[in-house]
Amino acid sequence: MGAPAGSRCARDPCGPLCLLLTYLSVAYADYVVLAHVLLQPAFRGSPWCPVHAVAFNVVVALLLACHARAVLADPGVVPLAGTAMDFSELRSLRKAERSNEDWTVCNRCETYRPPRAHHCRVCHRCVRRMDHHCPWINNCVGELNQKYFIQFLFYTGLASVYAAGLVLAAWLRPPDGSATVTPGDVPSDRVQTAHCIVLLLESVLFGAFVTAIFYDQVTSIITDETPLEQLRKRVLKEADREAPPRRKPRLALLRDVFGRGFVICWFFPWNCGAPAGTGPAYSYLPDYDV
Ligand SMILES: [Zn+2]
Ligand SMILES: [Zn+2]
Repeated sequence: MGAPAGSRCARDPCGPLCLLLTYLSVAYADYVVLAHVLLQPAFRGSPWCPVHAVAFNVVVALLLACHARAVLADPGVVPLAGTAMDFSELRSLRKAERSNEDWTVCNRCETYRPPRAHHCRVCHRCVRRMDHHCPWINNCVGELNQKYFIQFLFYTGLASVYAAGLVLAAWLRPPDGSATVTPGDVPSDRVQTAHCIVLLLESVLFGAFVTAIFYDQVTSIITDETPLEQLRKRVLKEADREAPPRRKPRLALLRDVFGRGFVICWFFPWNCGAPAGTGPAYSYLPDYDV
């Protein structure tokens, strides 16, 4: 539907750097857990060692899969006027949405866009229900990839907690009785300790960072307002003048983003019940530009 993410955001030098930093951070964390933390006396020789190794790598694999979907997926780019307007999408919108006259023309890319679409100054395109442009995925977070972005945050937070927990357990737990550690078998204590401290700091830093963004994302979904819409509301002080709009139930709003299948499917980076290309229903908001 939209252009590949690479061409959409090729002008943002920060994006590729953040992608590289993400991959290096994940690779380093995996290396330290496998080559240092799980070789500490507390785990070495224990039956829990392979269990933690497999479980941590499953979390890492899900993290990378969700990240890849968020990076590569079309966030909901509105087709450019006169080139690739996809009228099948317009026909797929519900009648109530079609009758909505809040479609506008963007004064930057001249796209005829639906309500809640906003122009991204990095991608130079309008994106449906745009949340923000995220350098960590080198892509916009919009209607069609917000689910993958939130899953990426979730698994990054989970991996951070897991790694920090393993480091602390390795330090605090008494050595397993069956462990047979001989000098020269494992890297020196000082190297191991240094790697463990760096991993602990990395986990705390990334864990706190993604927790804050995860909270903002979930809040924006259940309040049915993107950060851009919240900002505009504050600027115009609409809350003082207007009654709060009627919103869908929170579960329905979450299902709009994560899919209408089983809740367990919300944790995996594939479509589960949400019709492809339709995404959340548009709700009324006066036009504005960002
Ligand atoms: Zn635009
Ligand atoms: Zn963007």
